[in-house]
Amino acid sequence: MPILKEQNPSAITLPTPVAEIRHPAHRPHRVVLIPGDGIGPEVAEATVRAVEATGISVEWERIELNAKTIAEHGGVLPNTVLDALGLFRVALKGPVGTPIGGGFQSVNLALRKKLNLFANLRPVRNMPGLKTRFSDVCIDLVIFRENTESLYSGLEHRVAPGVVESLKVITRKASLRIAKSAFAFARREGRRRVTAIHKANILKISDGLFLRCCRRVAREYPEIRYDELIVDNAAMQLVTRPETLDVLLTPNLYGDILSDLAAGLVGGLGIVPGANLGETHAVFEAVHGNAPDIAGKGIANPTGLMQSAALLLTHLGERTAAERLETAIHDVYREARYLTPDVGGAASTADFTDAVIRHLELPAAA
Ligand code: ATP
Repeated sequence: MPILKEQNPSAITLPTPVAEIRHPAHRPHRVVLIPGDGIGPEVAEATVRAVEATGISVEWERIELNAKTIAEHGGVLPNTVLDALGLFRVALKGPVGTPIGGGFQSVNLALRKKLNLFANLRPVRNMPGLKTRFSDVCIDLVIFRENTESLYSGLEHRVAPGVVESLKVITRKASLRIAKSAFAFARREGRRRVTAIHKANILKISDGLFLRCCRRVAREYPEIRYDELIVDNAAMQLVTRPETLDVLLTPNLYGDILSDLAAGLVGGLGIVPGANLGETHAVFEAVHGNAPDIAGKGIANPTGLMQSAALLLTHLGERTAAERLETAIHDVYREARYLTPDVGGAASTADFTDAVIRHLELPAAA
């Protein structure tokens, strides 16, 4: 029987152990802004407007990072980016395209490694009023993806002509760290279930180590139900009973794939926010890529980056502003007049953003 949708309009809190960077309570907040390329600059501009409409004072350190600047600097992480992040520690980032099958390394991968952003957090929830195949059930799950190893170790080589190897690296240290973050988050947010995702029936040693670490941490959280799902079964559960899933704790590659799948359940890539978190730095960005097919057309959906900005505001201690921003976005979905084409509307990025801002500017009691 479907569980009726109960929307929780309050902002998602970030996991304290990884996210609690003691950001000095100075005003304005100083945040690095990387618009990126493709639709990145369009959704970044929209998001900056929405954040400013919350009344929170933010000083943006804007840094251009795209295929052109990467070619000019000869590296994916120029010093300007590292210096700014070293100083401000928090960034709002749009997508930067990565060439497929050759060319430069992914900027995201480089940032995660350089800043040790070991946890990737993706909250996936239905948007109020948005009709999807699953809008009659309450989807409210959070994916905690290990961000630094597994098949993303970048260790690939050619063994012989026509034969290549990619190394999947799993360590106890990284597995314990992500498991602790996920369980601590679950406890703080009153979530009841953490599910570790694996393929340890085949990858007995690597995913076996990941599972042993998850089990060890789970013993410290007896009030939280812990279980395990093989990744292929997890994919099926996501499309058949998504309302039963709560916190998914995953190694790197499985989390990457399942989080796009989960985004599809609630309306697509344009909606879902994300955060890459480490002990000292945090980078907030939407799940989607740079979507070259719609870049420059003014129709990109900025919801994912706006909701990522709400996570960022929470991270900066501006929880009220974060909740107001999320509520305004939800109100625009409920109203269903100014939605972008990817979610069935006909509005432009600017129309959607204006509508969010109008809701933010309404008196609190309205
Ligand atoms: P990457 O591999 O860089 O993460 P991707 O393969 O996930 O990218 P995207 O660039 O995110 O692909 O785009 C996939 C499809 O989703 C595209 O056709 C694009 O039009 C659509 N899309 C992605 N993001 C948005 C958005 N914010 N608004 C509207 N449509 C979007």
